Amino acid sequence: VVPVLTIDGPSGSGKGTVSRLVAERLGWRLLDSGALYRAVGYAAGAAGLDLSDVDAVTRCAQSTKIRFHPSADGGDTRVLVNGHDATDELRTETAGAAASAIASIPSVRQALVDLQLGFRKAPGLVADGRDMGTVIFPDAAHKVFLTASAAERAKRRYKQLKEKGLSVTLSGLQREIEARDARDASRAVAPLKPADDAVLVDTTGMPIDEVVAKVFAVVRS
Ligand code: C5P
Repeated sequence: VVPVLTIDGPSGSGKGTVSRLVAERLGWRLLDSGALYRAVGYAAGAAGLDLSDVDAVTRCAQSTKIRFHPSADGGDTRVLVNGHDATDELRTETAGAAASAIASIPSVRQALVDLQLGFRKAPGLVADGRDMGTVIFPDAAHKVFLTASAAERAKRRYKQLKEKGLSVTLSGLQREIEARDARDASRAVAPLKPADDAVLVDTTGMPIDEVVAKVFAVVRS
């Protein structure tokens, strides 16, 4: 079977960066599952849907075409939503909040299962998200759950968004991230929590190379 490494955790835990670096070094494919929820939230918003309209948002999740494309200049992978490059729009905390809202709908999550399973291809897959180790790839050979203090997670997201030229405040971001994590952790389906067999890594104050090294140690063990 094709090996899978799941990397779950809250927003700003370092998942995204670590998943990308580890996938590059292993030569494995990468699934950024958060981008799928962000894309559906974005498509629903663009269509003028009420994000609490379960039937309409479910149909949107079933019909939205999401594609990942390497960028021409070697930068961030582009995310195409129904043919439109929505990469920049998907990065914002507004898109994160919309993703979190629609991600609590079970039929929306169901609509994205096969798409996610399809990423499991040789030689291997690094799957980044909230429920990779618990729901989507429960049989994964390697599972990691990254955490960090709320203050540090807000600081990291702040830095990332600033680098992308977005106007944000640290205190506002920390509030938004905490609200999103609380919702993700308390929802009835696929709540944010470590799989029983996941290795927990607290990345507070830890440089990225050290987190990557810890994740490699899990893959090799
Ligand atoms: O990881 P990212 O911040 O892009 O995820 C955005 C939102 O999508 C999360 O806050 C969560 O509500 C949802 N999500 C999810 N399951 C995943 C990945 C993301 O519910 N596997």
